[in-house]
Amino acid sequence: MNGVRGESMSECIFCKIVSGEIPSNMVYEDETVYAFYDNNPQAPVHILFIPKQHIASTSEINKENSSVVADIFEAIAVAANELNLDEGYRVVSNCGRQAQQSVPHLHFHVLAGRDMTWPPG
Ligand code: 5GP
Ligand code: ZN
Repeated sequence: MNGVRGESMSECIFCKIVSGEIPSNMVYEDETVYAFYDNNPQAPVHILFIPKQHIASTSEINKENSSVVADIFEAIAVAANELNLDEGYRVVSNCGRQAQQSVPHLHFHVLAGRDMTWPPG
């Protein structure tokens, strides 16, 4: 299965992070979910939660693979408690060109540690 822009899973940087081929700063891991610090943080706390399985974006979530989305949100709750994000946090998933998705492997940004604005840019 190919991701958006025809990128194969073997070329996907987040698949390489899951396999350990590209190093990352791990925050959380279980059977289906991996979370690590974003290397270009947009807030004092900026974590990416990804499925270990390659799914290109929110547009490729379906009946067969959607249970991992629940797994990810359970993982977010665990990590938010462990990291004491008591003041709140924002969960964002950019999908496609207009939303400026830059990595075609489904990911949920968790941003925390500062006041956010709304609407987002
Ligand atoms: P997007 O723009 O697709 O919503 O988010 C992709 C995110 O991945 C960006 O915030 C970017 O900083 C982060 N990112 C891209 N490559 C790497 C990497 O190799 N390591 C880490 N830790 N983050 C990355
Ligand atoms: Zn991937």
